[in-house]
Amino acid sequence: MQPISRRVFLAGAAAIAIAACSDDARPAADGTGAPGATEPGSGASTTAAATTTDEPTTSTAAPVELPGDPFTIGVASGDPDARGAVLWTRLAPDPLNGGGMPADDVPVVWEISATPEFTEVVASGTETATVQHGHSVHAVVPLEQGDWYYRFRVGGYTSLVGLTRPAPAAGTDVAEARIAAASCQHYESGLYAAHRDIAEQAPSFVVWLGDYIYEGAGSANADPADRTHLGPEPTTVEEYRNRYARYKTDPQLQASHAACPWFVIWDDHEVENNYAGLAPQEPADAAGFQERRFAAYQAWWEHQPVRLSPPTGAADEYRIYRDAQWGDLVQIALLDGRQYRSDQACGDVALSLEPACPEASDPARTMLGDEQEQWLLDTLGASAATWKLIGNQVIIADATFNEAVLNYDQWDGYQAAREQLLQSFADAAIENIVVLTGDIHLAAVAQLRAGDRAAGPNVGVEFVTTSVSSGGLVGEELTDVLKTFPNLIDAELAHRGYSLHTVTPQQWTADYRIVTDVASADSEVTTFGTYLVAAGSNTVTKAP
Ligand code: FE
Ligand code: CA
Repeated sequence: MQPISRRVFLAGAAAIAIAACSDDARPAADGTGAPGATEPGSGASTTAAATTTDEPTTSTAAPVELPGDPFTIGVASGDPDARGAVLWTRLAPDPLNGGGMPADDVPVVWEISATPEFTEVVASGTETATVQHGHSVHAVVPLEQGDWYYRFRVGGYTSLVGLTRPAPAAGTDVAEARIAAASCQHYESGLYAAHRDIAEQAPSFVVWLGDYIYEGAGSANADPADRTHLGPEPTTVEEYRNRYARYKTDPQLQASHAACPWFVIWDDHEVENNYAGLAPQEPADAAGFQERRFAAYQAWWEHQPVRLSPPTGAADEYRIYRDAQWGDLVQIALLDGRQYRSDQACGDVALSLEPACPEASDPARTMLGDEQEQWLLDTLGASAATWKLIGNQVIIADATFNEAVLNYDQWDGYQAAREQLLQSFADAAIENIVVLTGDIHLAAVAQLRAGDRAAGPNVGVEFVTTSVSSGGLVGEELTDVLKTFPNLIDAELAHRGYSLHTVTPQQWTADYRIVTDVASADSEVTTFGTYLVAAGSNTVTKAP
């Protein structure tokens, strides 16, 4: 449901909105929020490339000559807070070949309306699409509570229309939120019926958990008309841009973005499979990896509707972990499980049944880094919201098999860090933790316990969403094995899909949506199972 009825801007409201926007440009009280140096999660909402203006509705920007329609890879909105959201697009008349834009910065007009026909434009502004950032646009737009339509215009062209909404403010009772969680959309592996279903379900917001692109090379002679990656494995910003554009030309992905605001985090494939901090998958590829990662991070920023400044340099941290709030219903903490982690233990062997080497349980190993872990505990501990949603990259539930770690990339390979984190939740008496996880291309429901995975006290629940399209990593014959794990409530390995969560102050309900045939864009999408968490119970059960 939509939490608060739509309110149409009155004449004066736009001016108030613009005043609020100017307010955003002030440095934060703690001095960290100078324009262009947004502190993620601080509520400041100005980025270097995202200042709004009070341009009149009819733009006075100089006419721009474009070689063709620049709106080929869609629109998006994201990181809503109580005052607005980020609107995104990128100008790319030739999206698969560098974008095809002239080598000039270009002003782009954004418009807001209460109706999809834009009968009345109630707010507008301009944002500069820069050469430096691939002619991407991130407009931080003030919005009154309610649902709003947005679009972009430049050079006689108009984008498709998206729907967005600000988040209900802290202190606001919210009767219900509907949240889609999705990850892993390998372009060559299937079509995006799951995204069509997300758009049709019209959730309040989407949480994207990573693996938005995959970095594998396309076949050398791939026909662009086929659903294949094009070009080599990307290492430069231009190559990563082309890869993002390839994915974003998909109409069902565009529809999913246009349906509601998204909160986006990354996993490994946005850079390279199983990288860890500045360690690439293969140690032999270490030379130049820092620059490659910077290129990948920049292209990620250019293609996602995030309330962040772009990354500044290869040697710099690029902080994307951040928090958000959906009224007093859901506290959201979005993690970065890639940038700060220790390199995978025990040689990162896959699916070994040998007992794990001692390194896997080394207490010095970290998944989040000390700073992020402390931020997470502080954020959740201070929240007055009923539910604590953690957007997380890789499975945190214990999925070890006898003494073996089946996947050293998961929290199983960071055992001491996991135990410490789950124990911290118990020690701080943080209730109603729901971890949403992607990465592993299977659906699973896990009971999180501190200490012993079979007998420790319940500290939360993990919903592992399957992939939108990426092929299964674990054989379906292992479904029954996984179900014998004492902390795994259910598992489904045979289908692609996503998870759809209906959240009220009393109950969290997770519907596991599965795609019948991932080779068909028109495939039906059905519910495989429904799982329930009553508020205060920290316990998940399968609905009868
Ligand atoms: Fe994946
Ligand atoms: Ca992954």
